Amino acid sequence: MRGIRRPAKRPQRCPRPDYPIVRWAGAVDFALPASAQGSGICDAIGTARHLRKRARTAARWFVLRINEIMNWIDELRGLVDATGIIDQPQDMSAFLTDWRGRFSGRAAAVVQPRTTQETARIVQLCARRGVPIVVQGGNTGLVGGATPDASGKALVLCTRRMDRVRRVDTDDDTITVEAGCVLQRVQEAAIAHNRLFPLSLAAEGSCTIGGNLATNAGGTQVLRYGNARDLTLGLEVVLASGEIWEGLRGLRKDNSGYDLKQLFIGSEGTLGIITAATLKLFALPRARAVSLLALPHFSAAIKVLQRARAAAGPGLTAFEIMSGRCVQLVGRIFGEQRRPFVQQYPWLALLEWSDYEDEPGAVRQCERLCAAAIEATEAIDAVISRSLGDCESLWRLREAIPEAQARSGGNVKHDISLPLASMDRFVNETEAALYALCPQLQVLVFGHLGDGNLHFNVGTQEGVPVDEAFGREQLINDIVYSAVARWGGSISAEHGLGQLRRELAQRFKPPLELDMMRGIKQVLDPQGLLNPGKVI
Ligand SMILES: Cc1cc2nc3c(=O)[nH]c(=O)nc-3n(C[C@H](O)[C@H](O)[C@H](O)COP(=O)(O)OP(=O)(O)OC[C@H]3O[C@@H](n4cnc5c(N)ncnc54)[C@H](O)[C@@H]3O)c2cc1C
Repeated sequence: MRGIRRPAKRPQRCPRPDYPIVRWAGAVDFALPASAQGSGICDAIGTARHLRKRARTAARWFVLRINEIMNWIDELRGLVDATGIIDQPQDMSAFLTDWRGRFSGRAAAVVQPRTTQETARIVQLCARRGVPIVVQGGNTGLVGGATPDASGKALVLCTRRMDRVRRVDTDDDTITVEAGCVLQRVQEAAIAHNRLFPLSLAAEGSCTIGGNLATNAGGTQVLRYGNARDLTLGLEVVLASGEIWEGLRGLRKDNSGYDLKQLFIGSEGTLGIITAATLKLFALPRARAVSLLALPHFSAAIKVLQRARAAAGPGLTAFEIMSGRCVQLVGRIFGEQRRPFVQQYPWLALLEWSDYEDEPGAVRQCERLCAAAIEATEAIDAVISRSLGDCESLWRLREAIPEAQARSGGNVKHDISLPLASMDRFVNETEAALYALCPQLQVLVFGHLGDGNLHFNVGTQEGVPVDEAFGREQLINDIVYSAVARWGGSISAEHGLGQLRRELAQRFKPPLELDMMRGIKQVLDPQGLLNPGKVI
């Protein structure tokens, strides 16, 4: 029987016998003449060959990557008009750094679709090619949520060219707008129909309604009207698959299953791209009055808040707190004319009343409250607006605080919420712990006290470099967030998690909540392409 002839074992390609095998960094084998053994040449030649091989591999990979990117960017060009795509580094830079200048990233390109359909086609392309998408509206977010990572792989999808007001419905009191509409334009469109859209924040001239909903923005009128979530009736969303979910309903009641829009509100671009929203409108108040009260200590603010709520009910539209240090900082940065009192006081509260009858009625309510608070020694002094101009200038003081802080070099920010009952002790104990850590720190507290929300920021005293604070960021955060957890608060009241507080959420949120969040992300974005590295 003829046996199966096995092929002769192929001799291994081996180096010439007189050249022993040299292993360099454990990566490649090659041979060198005996004369080179033990000499420096041996290592040098080995290194040079190895590097040449690695360089060739790297160059091949680079060319492949470039081709891959060029291919999908060429495809992208077919989906938007010529001005809708930006891929030159110098033109992209404004989209790659956040408002505070704390986060910077890179991107393959920035695309600016004009319609929901264009957005859907872009998302379909990205889903096919595995390209991550970072949605960006006005880029005023404070937690780095709209900034891509450093890999340069992501596409930044900017919504600012989708900015039409689609419909104002005065029967149902709703407005339907596209995601890129700047908040101030939405407010103006409502006023043009004698209605109020009450969402209001210092960045309203730049931030977009899509960004407001994606971060569930709060702002200054939450006490009366609620946050962005409370103002939303319906959404249109492009899903991670590129499908369009048409949920633009203006119904006040709809219990026909899960309320899906709530998933996208506050999801910071990680679950879908909001392309339009139907929002609630309200009757335009006839009059506004604003008062500023000087307070002896923080706990007085809580007492005045309770007094004002009892007196004005829903007429109280805002209750803001500012420490005397914040007011001094605004005076120093923007000029002394911004300071409402000659004397310096430890705390100030800003209250706004809305009235549906007349101006004198609103002012009378303000006066009554201020007089009662001073009589009860809860307040030391008060200023009351006499005109709309006065209202605006008192508000300007409050709204100038974030900008003044940014211009003075920045600080370590905390956007926290707490039960009102524990706020006074939280503020006093946490301030004391921070000054014990470093006496050169400066705690700057302001925020929406009426909503239990404080911006508890930690910078440095005048003349001390801010690095003294940023260099201790971890320790400062530990002090503040441990106290927030102890007092039953939240590590993010209105700004979201973005990339700034993503890790922190892992530490402070209950594991079951994080598991549910991961499950939702997996269902809605199985490839993990929507805003990777943010929130969860
Ligand atoms: C001076 C100043 C004052 C501020 N005051 C307040 C305040 O009082 N209250 C408050 O809540 N915030 C405040 N902010 C924060 C910021 O303005 C809000 O978070 C705002 O809602 C962000 O809107 P934007 O269009 O700039 O969003 P961006 O910064 O562009 O994006 C924010 C996040 O939303 C996502 N996103 C944006 N658009 C969409 C979309 N269409 N679909 C899905 N995801 C999207 C982004 O990916 C990102 O994660 C302030 C900011 C500044 C600079």
